Amino acid sequence: MEGRVHSFETMGTVDGPGIRFLVFLQGCRMKCLYCHNRDTWDQTGGKLYTPDEIIKKMMTLKHFYKASNGGITITGGEPLLQGEFVVELLKLVKKSGLTTCIDTAGNVEITDSVREAVTLTDYILFDIKSTDPKTHYNLTNSRIQMTQAFAELIKEKDVEIWLRYVLLPGYTDSEKDKISLAEYANSFKNATRIDILPYHTMGIEKWEQLGFDYQLKGVEPPSPEKVEEFKEYLRKNTKLSVY
Ligand code: SF4
Repeated sequence: MEGRVHSFETMGTVDGPGIRFLVFLQGCRMKCLYCHNRDTWDQTGGKLYTPDEIIKKMMTLKHFYKASNGGITITGGEPLLQGEFVVELLKLVKKSGLTTCIDTAGNVEITDSVREAVTLTDYILFDIKSTDPKTHYNLTNSRIQMTQAFAELIKEKDVEIWLRYVLLPGYTDSEKDKISLAEYANSFKNATRIDILPYHTMGIEKWEQLGFDYQLKGVEPPSPEKVEEFKEYLRKNTKLSVY
């Protein structure tokens, strides 16, 4: 079996515990306005790799990953669009004793392989785009229902979840958003942490280089005070570690 891979990173430190080998899988059906991996969207792109070939790459730095309780993070794009491939890769990594993470926005049909992948993995990094259906659609060009069904699936699993939320001025930073995010985060009994990620403008250049129109031009990153306000509210109103 082969999977479509966009790229690799060998020393990831923010996408799961410890030092991690990041595999960016190719393909995503969402169209997030702030996507900083715009070149991962095309489901026919990327380069083909077998799970064995990926493991071989990862193993060259195994001692770093092992010593830090790290491992592999399968991200993208939307990795679970290649569910069968992810399952095969996870099975191989588990044999090596390293930890496994899937970084997903959950915009996928719940197939047998998706169920198996979320059962096999140690961690899921779940990206909450917005809790409001209309904003979710405006921001991602995707309906919220599919991601909500995925959220219900992972809530039932024995898997540790880290939530992630991009704070985007004018879209996801209102008082209502803050309250709703805390409520939604509390509905994940197996979530231990939430990361509030301030929107940044570093993706603009990539969009322009690829010849695409970046619609968030003119939107500034949130102020440090606004970011702190969200974090503080979540610290007070959830049991999660907030970063
Ligand atoms: S889900 Fe991730 S890869 Fe897909 S468009 Fe959104 S930010 Fe980009």
